[in-house]
Amino acid sequence: LYDRDGWIWQDGEWLAWREAKVHVFTHTLHYGMGCFEGVRAYEGEQGTALFRVAEHTRRLAESAHSLDIPLAFSEEALIEAQQECLRKNQLTNAYLKPTVFLGAEGLGLRAKGLSTHVMIAAWDLGPYLSPQATRCGLRALTSSWARHHVNISLCRAKTSGHYVNSMLALNTAVKAGFDETIMLDPEGYVAEASAANVFLLRDGVLHTPEVTSCLQGITRDSVIQLAREALGIEVRERRITRDELYTADEAFLTGTAAEILPLRELDGRRIGVRAGAPAVDAPIPDDSVTARLQRLYRQAVRGELAAFKHWLTPA
Ligand code: PMP
Repeated sequence: LYDRDGWIWQDGEWLAWREAKVHVFTHTLHYGMGCFEGVRAYEGEQGTALFRVAEHTRRLAESAHSLDIPLAFSEEALIEAQQECLRKNQLTNAYLKPTVFLGAEGLGLRAKGLSTHVMIAAWDLGPYLSPQATRCGLRALTSSWARHHVNISLCRAKTSGHYVNSMLALNTAVKAGFDETIMLDPEGYVAEASAANVFLLRDGVLHTPEVTSCLQGITRDSVIQLAREALGIEVRERRITRDELYTADEAFLTGTAAEILPLRELDGRRIGVRAGAPAVDAPIPDDSVTARLQRLYRQAVRGELAAFKHWLTPA
């Protein structure tokens, strides 16, 4: 990733990709106190546009504020830098990772006298896993690692250190031969996947965990709005148990990188058996709610849905 051409924005300046380096005493490297975003841009009929960049940038600013990291840049300035990052790197379909971190002036948990930094890098990114995963779905394992608790970390902040927990869960599942993991909150209710929110469909109603342990996903919000407004489907945010996923008619994951990925199997149980689920390696039916939402989302991110054009910011 580091040995390539391109431009990275850091603290108001453009650095050549290979020169965008930090010192080994960079505080965030030692304790994980930092935060980031994952944003996508898509090429549509009217050119390249960032998808919901205002919401992502607000979440970045709020993550930093919650972690008590002062930012030297306004949200407007950070949005402009993201637009410029696409243009300068001549990107059309891209993933951007604005990241906030603490400087290398000193170690220690008191974090006194440290500079604060923001960088924005962008690169081409296709599907999160594979086109096959988008069409046919994932096999997941419920994790033995609990997701965060509101009194242990700031669950609404997209904190760098939170991802140790995600990686423990994901990589345990991957080593056991699964594609993904479903993490439960400390009380045992469904929280989210390693880097995506989770939804289930039952009797025509969508259900998703309320925002306590899970991240307040922006794709989660897009899907809730698309389901309610474009499909007229009711969506309930509430506590969910893992057996509700086993017995759901459909289930899927949502995230900026993941987009909408069908969940086909959890802990060896096929999802949607009563609804006549096809073989686990066959494409999900075109008329399933998951496939309909995938199509709508694909149109929304490219500016093809008039009612949701306000989600786009041209690069
Ligand atoms: N949960 C976690 C832990 C994540 O890392 C992500 C990805 N940012 C999500 C959920 C989905 O959030 P979003 O839709 O805003 O990308």
